[in-house]
Amino acid sequence: MKIFCVGRNYVDHAKELNNPLPQQPVVFTKPPTAVIRNGQDFYIPDFSKNVHYEGELVIRIGKNGKNIAEKFAQKYVDAITFGLDFTARDLQDYLKENKLPWDLAKGFDGSAAVGDWLPIDQFPNLHDISFRTVLNGETVQNGNSSLMMFNIEKIISFVSHYFTLQVGDLLYTGTPAGVGALKAGDVLEGYIGEEKLLRTVVK
Ligand code: MG
Repeated sequence: MKIFCVGRNYVDHAKELNNPLPQQPVVFTKPPTAVIRNGQDFYIPDFSKNVHYEGELVIRIGKNGKNIAEKFAQKYVDAITFGLDFTARDLQDYLKENKLPWDLAKGFDGSAAVGDWLPIDQFPNLHDISFRTVLNGETVQNGNSSLMMFNIEKIISFVSHYFTLQVGDLLYTGTPAGVGALKAGDVLEGYIGEEKLLRTVVK
């Protein structure tokens, strides 16, 4: 399983971190050891004092493909969920300043929380899927796939031009504004529409 993530895919989030708007999708990866599932705890790593949650729609690939055209991309999606792209923001800032890869700040153990899957046929319109991140009972991020700079089909097409997509690969599609720091004891929950798909306790 490969895990692809898109950065800066929502204008409001790119602006809150003072990042320029990208001309093409900003893609990075996480290793399979980054995954935690619904109900598992998230452990703040000892190398960061500023770990952020990033709530995102996550797509699961259901068919192998390479150089997938946008108009056929929807056929390659078999499920969707809410996920968290945990980020060691202090380490990422250091790596960015020094023009180094983000891997250490984005791909550490536990950095990819994945909710329970919903079959994609429940979502005939991929361009109007709402989701939200709830921290300690309060909504801190509200997103909708209509606000993506690069939509799901575009991301699949773009990524598949560089990497063969395989059954089970995951695609994190970017986070809207409202990211923030975590501390031990926090409880994070993620929803698509009214369906709670992910809960994790921060340790
Ligand atoms: Mg992200």
